[in-house]
Amino acid sequence: MLSSNYTKKVYEDVVLRNPGESEFHQAVLEVLESLEPILEKRPEFEKHSILERFVEPERLISFRVPWVDDEGKIRVNRGYRVQFNSAIGPYKGGLRFHPSVSASVIKFLGFEQTLKNSLTTLPMGGGKGGADFNPKGKSEGEVMRFCQSFMTELYRHIGQFVDVPAGDIGVGAREVGYMFGTYKRIVGGYEGGAMTGKGIPFGGSLGRVKATGYGLCYFAEESMNRQRGTSFLGKTVIVSGSGNVAVYAAEKATQLGATVVAMSDSDGYIYDNHGIDVNEVIKIKADRQRISVYADKVPTAAYNEGSKNIWSVKCDIALPCATQNEMDKQGAKSLIENGCLGVFEGSNMPLTPEAIALVINAGLLYSPGKASNAGGVSVSGLEMSQNSLRLSWSEAEVDMKLRDIMKNIFNASFEASKEAGCEGNLMAGANIAGFLKVAEAMIAQGAV
Ligand code: NDP
Repeated sequence: MLSSNYTKKVYEDVVLRNPGESEFHQAVLEVLESLEPILEKRPEFEKHSILERFVEPERLISFRVPWVDDEGKIRVNRGYRVQFNSAIGPYKGGLRFHPSVSASVIKFLGFEQTLKNSLTTLPMGGGKGGADFNPKGKSEGEVMRFCQSFMTELYRHIGQFVDVPAGDIGVGAREVGYMFGTYKRIVGGYEGGAMTGKGIPFGGSLGRVKATGYGLCYFAEESMNRQRGTSFLGKTVIVSGSGNVAVYAAEKATQLGATVVAMSDSDGYIYDNHGIDVNEVIKIKADRQRISVYADKVPTAAYNEGSKNIWSVKCDIALPCATQNEMDKQGAKSLIENGCLGVFEGSNMPLTPEAIALVINAGLLYSPGKASNAGGVSVSGLEMSQNSLRLSWSEAEVDMKLRDIMKNIFNASFEASKEAGCEGNLMAGANIAGFLKVAEAMIAQGAV
């Protein structure tokens, strides 16, 4: 609930200007609520209309993506890029290919990305993009032709000093490769820093593919240690999803001594109290098969229909790593009743506002995705640095930097929560810490 006239007015305008865009409204409301305590102390933000500017993307581009399917028929999808905020660096954020992609989803992601990138301490503004294209069931050739067509339009809006896309849901190394190849061909030169998540042989960073999942666990470990004096060792963990973020979160949690007992895809979840073999999940996903196949291969595992039911599995730690609003009130209630210690977000905005309130009020540890999943974009930032320096760091070096960044993000969020009078509320802390840096840069740059 908003209480100040300033935030109420800004939120009302967001709803009016962006009708029906529920995901975007949800993300903005959460952030405005968190910022209220500091807005009172910093009247200059209202004087400089910082919130009004902060919630309005600098630019939203939408475009036609025509491509030819295997039957020779021309199909059309809609592509997007939101260039949300460039106060602290070039726009930076992934591309999502999923049928649910809309202006609302892209704006919510770009808005969150601005705060996340600020938290990483690297000089990156916020952006996001994608298309309502469903890569599922498409042939290699169809995916390649789609990516080429998408980049044929997007190239004019991006560049190493302008806007640097990467992967997200439905966009992995394969898609980034096709898009980067097309970009290189159009601009007529190798401009490595124009995209991240590239393959290792052509300028990608070692450790990038694992960075979001690993970073999530480093963040969660720090939070458990600093806020409860405990760690992953001996804990039972649920990881939702089985994509890029999920599998490497499961791998790192296992390396840190936890047992991952459940994972999912959008159809259902697998459960095995002996612990899930992450390598098997990685193989299944590399073959683009469903997670149900795991239960056919591993006799101790069971498969259950309905991905949302994963939260009814008893666990100490929940790592939602699939998609937005994947955990509602019911999911949060089940976790609380089962004595869960903490929920750390790997995906963007996985908990509904009601679920967040339940989890925080029940005293569980909780971190928002913009803080705990920032490892991916952080290593993307390191990929840009390596491309500029024309050298590549070892995986161990990248991992060490990633650990430091995740610790720093925890510290910044925790300290900001203390200063705002809500010690330990990492949602408020992350929103405030991320916002302050961007707001100060915006004031310094005048009315732009
Ligand atoms: P992937 O496409 O690699 O994987 C997404 C996974 O989530 C798939 O297993 C997918 O299953 C599953 N999924 C999708 N919808 C649902 C659902 N409703 N219920 C359960 N499972 C579902 O994406 P990523 O791993 O890259 O991204 C996951 C999340 O993490 C997103 O929110 C993304 O924005 C965020 N993120 C990603 C980063 C990255 O570096 N990749 C960085 C920071 C955040 P299925 O195959 O059935 O669709």
